[in-house]
Amino acid sequence: MLEARDLVKTYRMAQQEVQALRGVSFHVNAGEMVAIMGPSGSGKSTLMTLLGCLDTPTGGSLNLDGVDVSSASEVQLSQIRNQKIGFVFQSFNLLSDMTALENVALPLFYARIPKAERLQRASEALKHVGLGERQEHTPIELSGGQQQRVSIARALVSKPALLLADEPTGALDTRTSYEIMRLLQDLNQEGSTLVIITHEPDIARCCKRVVVLRDGKIESDTPNTPWRPDLPEEEET
Ligand code: ADP
Ligand code: MG
Repeated sequence: MLEARDLVKTYRMAQQEVQALRGVSFHVNAGEMVAIMGPSGSGKSTLMTLLGCLDTPTGGSLNLDGVDVSSASEVQLSQIRNQKIGFVFQSFNLLSDMTALENVALPLFYARIPKAERLQRASEALKHVGLGERQEHTPIELSGGQQQRVSIARALVSKPALLLADEPTGALDTRTSYEIMRLLQDLNQEGSTLVIITHEPDIARCCKRVVVLRDGKIESDTPNTPWRPDLPEEEET
C-alpha cells in the first residue's frame, strides 16, 4: 500500500542544512493501523508531509498505492492527494461558515462529483461517524469531539486508500480522545488503513503497530496488541 525506501529530507536554511529525515524505510500494508511516535524535532511532521504528498523527499523513494510519488510534479501530487489520502488534523481545519454537511461534501466538489451525489455521500459519512443529527450545524455549534468527527467524515468521504492523522486527539480532553480512538479503531476494523502521528503513549497503544522516530531515523518498529479504551461513566450532575 505504502512503501518508503531510504527517505531523506534536507531543509536548506540560509547558511546551513537541516537533515530532518536521514534514511527512513518502512511499509504500510492495507488494513494496518500504525502509530508514529517520537520526541519533538524527530521528524514526525516532515514524514507526514511526505506520506501525505504535501512535499517531495530530497532522496529515496516513496510508492503510494502503486504510484511512485517521489518524483511527481506539483500537479500530480495534488491529484494523488485528492484521490488517495484523507487528512485529519489536530485543529480540525473545518470551514466555519459552512455546515457539517457542506464541509464533508467539499472534497467531492473538487473531485467534480455532481451535487446530489455529493450531499448524499456526505450525509452517509456523517451518519457513519455518529453525527446524523448534526448535519446542518456549523462548527461553532459543535463540541471539539463532534468537530473532529466531522473532519474524519470529510477525510473518508472520498474513500481514500490511506487516512493520515496528525495528532488527531491533541486538542481534546481524555474522554473525547478515547471516543475518537474507538471510532478510528472501528473504521480500521471496517478496512480503512490508518497512520496516526501522536506523542501520547495511550493513543499509540490503541494502534496495531508503533513506529518510533528519533533524530530523523526509525528507532523501533513494533507490532502491538491494540488496547481498546473504556469510556468511564460520565459523572452525574
Ligand atoms: P517533529 O514533528 O517530530 O517535531 P519536524 O519534522 O517538525 O519534527 O522537524 C524535524 C527537524 O527538521 C527539526 O530539526 C526542525 O527544526 C527541522 N525542520 C522542520 N521543518 C523545517 C522547515 N520547513 N525548514 C527548516 N527546518 C525544518
Ligand atoms: Mg511536528
